[in-house]
Amino acid sequence: AADLEFVSLTKRYGNTVAVDAISHHFKAGTYACLLGPSGCGKSSTLRMIAGHEEVSDGAIVLSGRDISHLPPARRGTAMMFQSYALFPHLNVRDNVAFSLRMAGQDKATRLARADEMLDLVEMTQYADRKPDQLSGGQQQRVALARALITRPQVLLLDEPLSALDPFLRVRMRTELKRLQRDLGISFIHVTHGQDEALALADEIIVMNDARIEQAGPAREVFNAP
Ligand code: ADP
Ligand code: ADP
Repeated sequence: AADLEFVSLTKRYGNTVAVDAISHHFKAGTYACLLGPSGCGKSSTLRMIAGHEEVSDGAIVLSGRDISHLPPARRGTAMMFQSYALFPHLNVRDNVAFSLRMAGQDKATRLARADEMLDLVEMTQYADRKPDQLSGGQQQRVALARALITRPQVLLLDEPLSALDPFLRVRMRTELKRLQRDLGISFIHVTHGQDEALALADEIIVMNDARIEQAGPAREVFNAP
């Protein structure tokens, strides 16, 4: 597991300061939920960690290494999206193996690792199906496998559960906590749901107006008994 740190992390779009010099230290292996009103800078923060958005100022340090200017595939992070964006023409196994193809791994290795990931998310029996032959919850698990196959130290989630029905959402939460335990990786999960954050988070970060307003254990932040 790896420590993640923001050092005066800043994002500007022209004159808009979307993320204003935030500093925070995430303990290795922690499950952090990022909350706050729309427009407060959550997505920008997540996209900077993933490398989908350039850092304007400051740094993101993972395991003592400044990753803020590395290409996304070399950061040790992976992102799982709300819109699962699976490739419709590829079957489940090839969808999961895709990023290894981009990384130039040989075919036997790719498929073996893909099967390992499908086993991890309990989707082995669906390996040969196309995404449109799966339920929403199953597609979500494939998207999770696809993010995990690169063996990230930090998994980034942008409201991944909001499209699921309540039953699947609860199942997926259990799944994510199991992965945290079994793989020892850290999570940063953007959500609008307080109940979701309470169920998942070891630590809650509340953003407001481009800054971190509050950070701590769920019970403290929500003032729960
Ligand atoms: P959140 O995820 O909390 O809704 P965002 O990070 O998406 O917040 O947005 C933070 C601020 O930055 C908002 O004012 C938003 O309009 C602005 N913003 C986000 N992305 C861009 C962009 N690509 N170009 C210009 N402004 C942006
Ligand atoms: P979210 O609320 O999940 O962050 P948005 O709908 O705000 O999603 O943003 C979707 C896309 O639009 C992102 O790529 C973001 O960078 C861009 N975007 C958001 N706000 C602005 C803005 N004010 N100007 C330009 N692009 C923006």
